[in-house]
Amino acid sequence: MAKMYYDKEADLNYLLNKKVAVIGYGSQGHAHALNLLESGVDVVVGLYSGSKSWKKAESDGLKVVEVAEAAKESNVIVLLIPDELQQSVYTEYIMPYLDEGDALVFAHGFNIHYNQIVPPEYVDVFMVAPKGPGHLVRRVYKDGKGVPALFAVHQSYTGKAREMALAYAKGIGATRAGVLETTFKEETETDLFGEQCVLCGGVTELIKAGFDTLVNAGYQKEIAYFECLHEMKLIVDLLYEGGFEKMRYSISDTAEYGDYMVGKRIINEDTRKEMKKVLKEIQSGEFAKEWLLENKLNRPVFNSVKKRELSHPIVEVGKNLRSMMSWIEK
Ligand code: NDP
Ligand code: MG
Ligand code: MG
Repeated sequence: MAKMYYDKEADLNYLLNKKVAVIGYGSQGHAHALNLLESGVDVVVGLYSGSKSWKKAESDGLKVVEVAEAAKESNVIVLLIPDELQQSVYTEYIMPYLDEGDALVFAHGFNIHYNQIVPPEYVDVFMVAPKGPGHLVRRVYKDGKGVPALFAVHQSYTGKAREMALAYAKGIGATRAGVLETTFKEETETDLFGEQCVLCGGVTELIKAGFDTLVNAGYQKEIAYFECLHEMKLIVDLLYEGGFEKMRYSISDTAEYGDYMVGKRIINEDTRKEMKKVLKEIQSGEFAKEWLLENKLNRPVFNSVKKRELSHPIVEVGKNLRSMMSWIEK
């Protein structure tokens, strides 16, 4: 098993003599800022004037200033705004204020790995990426535990970037659970691959294909929704708690036999070949280039596909059925 690092291998002192600017107060930003604060770290939040998050951060007890101000007064700057905004915010409001020996911190490797942000050689650059959404990172920390994370060092000008990364992971509570070392390349490429082939692209197309097949064969849309989408959660919860073994232990033997016999006909050699192709496009930078261009052009493809997806019958039937489910938070 890969080496895990825990609290005892991380020294918070590397952060305690620093001032940390958390840029952005969204999913990750609010969790990092509050956890660091409660770990005794000197934190300031960087936002823009007119930001919706500003009041929230202040009412949570944090000091908030504009991004440039935060970058000026801090020596550890953490970029926790959406990835596609990071380059322009960095260039305009952060880069001019980077001093020798400062640290630039990320929670995802995209902008560094694909050279959208090329920091000067006189700063440290590292990543601490929690393996969970921000609200979980915050909730679990408050319970005295942590969400596991990955960490990676891109450059270590001070020679202490790795120690800093571990200290940061400790500050947000991650070393309570364990952190795993990776590289910006590995984190970025596997993250993109996972979301495209399995988690987001793979799962939604699988659900739609199942739903369409049943509906086109004359079955009720509502039944198709329950079988192909709603029940996904039950299965995923079991997978999450206990892997394939627990899921297969919990389902009926009929379901388990069907699983063994049919799964490979659905996700077949062609699918695996296509996955390899997708991975190559991620590795070569082809996907990154396409997505960056798409953003430069105000997302023509993104917007039209989004619209088309919203007109799929599964959307309407899902809305109606979920309105019957009192336990789902609106
Ligand atoms: P969010 O979309 O939640 O970040 C939104 C925050 O950024 C808001 O506080 C928003 O303010 C602020 N913001 C937007 N534009 C600016 C700007 N120009 N200047 C300053 N602040 C701005 O981001 P995430 O937390 O989802 O992602 C942050 C990073 O963490 C990304 O690199 C992502 O890949 C990574 N990550 C995310 C995970 C997740 O679970 N979401 C998991 C692991 C990593 P306002 O709302 O007021 O506009
Ligand atoms: Mg991602
Ligand atoms: Mg069934």
